[in-house]
Order: sequence, then structure tokens, then C-alpha cells
Amino acid sequence: MGGDSIVCFGEMLIDFVPTVSGVSLAEAPGFLKAPGGAPANVAIAAARLGGKTAFVGKLGDDEFGHMLAGILKANGVSGDGITFDKGARTALAFVTLRADGEREFMFYRNPSADMLLTPEELNLDLIRSAKVFHYGSISLIVEPCRAAHLKAMEVAKQAGALLSYDPNLRLPLWPSAEEARKQIMSIWDKAEVIKVSDNELEFLTGSNKIDDESALSLWHNNLKLLLVTLGEKGCRYYTKNFHGTVDGFHVKAVDTTGAGDSFVGALLCKIVDDWSVLEDEAKLKEVLKFANACGAITTTKKGAIPALPTQAEVLSLFKE
Ligand code: ADP
Repeated sequence: MGGDSIVCFGEMLIDFVPTVSGVSLAEAPGFLKAPGGAPANVAIAAARLGGKTAFVGKLGDDEFGHMLAGILKANGVSGDGITFDKGARTALAFVTLRADGEREFMFYRNPSADMLLTPEELNLDLIRSAKVFHYGSISLIVEPCRAAHLKAMEVAKQAGALLSYDPNLRLPLWPSAEEARKQIMSIWDKAEVIKVSDNELEFLTGSNKIDDESALSLWHNNLKLLLVTLGEKGCRYYTKNFHGTVDGFHVKAVDTTGAGDSFVGALLCKIVDDWSVLEDEAKLKEVLKFANACGAITTTKKGAIPALPTQAEVLSLFKE
């Protein structure tokens, strides 16, 4: 795949996940240490598919931070945008797997290193080299990482990058639902590619309808592509000129963590490879079929990063 760069900005952390469902982490017989963080997952997803990617964010100068930096490197993601905080610890999430399969998160962010990234610490040359600049919104919640987030977006935009946004709503992290909606919408009209899940669409519109009218109520003039992911049902796509659905793949899902990030990584990889997918519906549908396949494969294994597919795995799903 092409030599253009996808630069992903935001948090990387470790999820502590119990080995059984229906009990808290403290009551579980064991737990897994699962590296994650949506923007880092996207960088690794695209790198596994052959994309040139980099991660920008802050980690603690502790064993977890160095472990995460090592995972990025081992996956071929540039760490030139990583800074280490001498005082604060790497972000951690303690997960409860509820009996109904849903996950509940408790975060160590007291503050964690990712929240302490300052605008002055940004590697601006790296950000200026981005062809696509992708971000989530956890880094919008507090200063100084909010200021770093806004500056990085601005610098990437001025250098000509396509801005890609996935709100990645994790409500417990926000002071209130209202604040979450307000902050997400405060950067909404900057992004040119936006991916939301069906749940996020409901949250942001305040309506329980998942239809064209509700998706298009989020449309803005800078947007080139809006995607609504629908879990096993695939996704809906909207551009200025056309919209439609691309069906998902039937797989035996065991853990949906990272499916959306895998989908976005695949999409961005294909966009930098051929920008005309944003204007050509037939090409876009092919790309979204590929992204749906990546999302589907990611659900077939536990954890996010270990489950992100290679090109060969995607092609074998196509042959089934
Ligand atoms: P998010 O992870 O952001 O909530 P989704 O759960 O909608 O997003 O998943 C993103 C994409 O991954 C979907 O559009 C779909 O292509 C794929 N996917 C997710 N869950 C499944 C599933 N159970 N079976 C098949 N594909 C899935």
C-alpha cells in the first residue's frame, strides 16, 4: 500500500480485562493486560494492512508506557510523536465484563500521562507530514491535552491533511453527558471524514431513530464522508452526492473491542492509497466492504490489537 502517512493523535492505554464475565475485576480468577486506546488501535490497524502510520500522544515513563511504545514499534508504527511524562503514570482502564456481554470501564486518570501532553511537546514536523490526521475525543476533555489536540488539528489542516474523526464516546470519562455532547460538537465541523457508531448517532442527535434523516442532521459543509457503523449489519455511508449501505460479514464474534478502530484503520489506508474513493461510489463501496471485513475479523478474537487483521486474513474472508 502507498507511502502516504496516517498520523493518529490521542491516548494509548492498557485495559485490564477479567478472564470471565459477570464479575468485577477484583472477583475474577484472572485478568488479561490488553493494550488499546482507539487512536493507537487505528494506527496499528492501518500499519498491519501496509499503511505508513505514526502515533502522537503521551505515555508514562513507566513499565506500561514503555511496553505500549514497544507494541507500536513492533507493529511498524512510528513512535516519533510519543513523549514520556516523568511524573504521571500511563493511562489504565479496569474493565468489568457484564453477564450480558457489555463492558463497563473504570479509568485511572488521576491525571494519567496522556492528559498532560502540551502543545509545546507536539512533534510539528511529523504532524505536518500527515496526509490523513486522525483523532478521537478523549483528549478533548481536559487541559493541557485539549489545547494540544486543537493545535495538532490546526497544524495538520494548514499543512493540507484530511482530518478524520471518531468521537469514541466513553461517557464515564466526561463530567456529564451534556458536556460530552458539547465538546464533541465543538470540533465536529472541522473533520472531513467522521465515523460514528449507531449508539453515538443516537446520543449526538438525541433521537432514538437510526435513519438517513438523523444521520444527515449531523452533516456539515466541510464533510466529505460520514459513516455510521451498525455492528454486524455493516455500515451506512453519506457523501454530498450519494449515500447507501454496505452489508457486514457473518462471523462468530467473541469480542467486539476494536472493531470500529479496525474499520477506520482500513478505510484510511484505502483513502491515502486512492483519494478518488471519496467521490466514486462504486470504489467507496468496495473500500467499505474491505473495512467491514476488517471490523468483522477483529470481533473473532479477544482484545483489540491482537485481533487487527493483515491483508491476507481479509482476502481469505472474501474467499469464504
Ligand atoms: P464501534 O466498535 O465503533 O462501536 P461497530 O461495533 O459498529 O463500531 O463495528 C465497526 C464495524 O465492525 C462494523 O461496521 C462492522 O463492519 C464490523 N462489526 C462489528 N461487529 C460485528 C459483528 N458482530 N459481526 C460482523 N461484523 C462486525
